[in-house]
Amino acid sequence: MNALYLVAIGSVPAKALEWVEKAAADWFPLPIRRLPPLSIPEAAYDTKRGQYQSVGIMKMLADGAPRDAARVLGVTDVDLAIPMLSFLFGQAQLDGPVAVISLWRLRQEFYGLAADESLLRERTTKEVLHELGHTFGLVHCSEPKCAMSLATHIELVDAKAEQYCVRCGMQVVRRCASLDGGV
Ligand SMILES: [Zn+2]
Ligand SMILES: [Zn+2]
Repeated sequence: MNALYLVAIGSVPAKALEWVEKAAADWFPLPIRRLPPLSIPEAAYDTKRGQYQSVGIMKMLADGAPRDAARVLGVTDVDLAIPMLSFLFGQAQLDGPVAVISLWRLRQEFYGLAADESLLRERTTKEVLHELGHTFGLVHCSEPKCAMSLATHIELVDAKAEQYCVRCGMQVVRRCASLDGGV
């Protein structure tokens, strides 16, 4: 059965990777495997903005995807952006195999506050569900508590629950069941 691969890009705390793995395992009935960590591609660094262009990182993940990868989820601790957005919590190919999340703006320290590990874990879980949801074809949900609702700032991430709404959750189940003939 094809697997969901996790990969750290640059230095990522081991604990954060465990949270990501658990969030994925709780919702997606796929074997979960880890790939060796990747270096952050220097070419993705945008010196003007002091951020990393997510597109370069997504391409690196797509190029390095194992043949039996159902999905590849990258996790990084650097600030991500794309040309038309000032930052990204994460990015995913809609109905495609590759996604990435960034811990950078999930950390309280980014907002000038004291580190809060349990809040970071919650936010990380929500981002994992959101971006993996996109890779399974889910679009943004109008229910603010649903992991698939659009969050353009951290307060909106915090307003979500660490789960999908019933409708989005059923869509995930259906999509996963259709992988590999329902195994
Ligand atoms: Zn989204
Ligand atoms: Zn929903």
